Amino acid sequence: MTKRLTRHMVAAYLQEIGIDYILVPPRAERETLEDILAEVRTCRRCALCSGRSNVVFGVGNPRARLLFVGEGPGVEEDRQGEPFVGAAGKRLTRWINRIGFAREDVYIANIVKCRPPDNRTPQPEEATACLPYLRRQIRAIRPEVICTLGGVALNFLLGNNERITRARGRWRDLDGIPLLPTYHPAYILRNATKEHEVLADFDLLAERLRTG
Ligand code: SF4
Repeated sequence: MTKRLTRHMVAAYLQEIGIDYILVPPRAERETLEDILAEVRTCRRCALCSGRSNVVFGVGNPRARLLFVGEGPGVEEDRQGEPFVGAAGKRLTRWINRIGFAREDVYIANIVKCRPPDNRTPQPEEATACLPYLRRQIRAIRPEVICTLGGVALNFLLGNNERITRARGRWRDLDGIPLLPTYHPAYILRNATKEHEVLADFDLLAERLRTG
């Protein structure tokens, strides 16, 4: 088996052969969520900027192991500036708690950061304008696992037309990160008989996080 060298082992070896110091070029700084938020706050890349009260950037642990992606903010999210508040947010929090995480442990974001009028689905040009922010958030957080909530988030993030009824519960890959689609909590509030499928999907998330 190959043994991984620690920094201490390398330093001890270098000292042993008479090298006390080596110059190491500074590591390229990783963009932070704050850097991205500073841009998003004043973003006018698409028409949704005109109807927003607040940008809904995302919430949670900036080093989360688990990242949830929804569709876009609704009225209450727009008012509070936070994703997944209200009844759907409470249901999502319940599912998160059930697999042993607090809501603060994970990160929750959306495909678009500004509220589409009348709770309509984001238009492709709006999602295309906003998706680079989400991709940068993913690079900043580096989650171990991503879970998309609902068909719209799945289709825009993976660029496909799959139906969520067929796609849910089947692992995908997003730039090397395992991604699991499941239903949107708002859909489950209207279709309670489907909740057992979401619970099964959350069990898959928990299992993946346990086994790596
Ligand atoms: S939805 Fe995204 S791209 Fe459009 S204005 Fe808001 S932050 Fe910018």
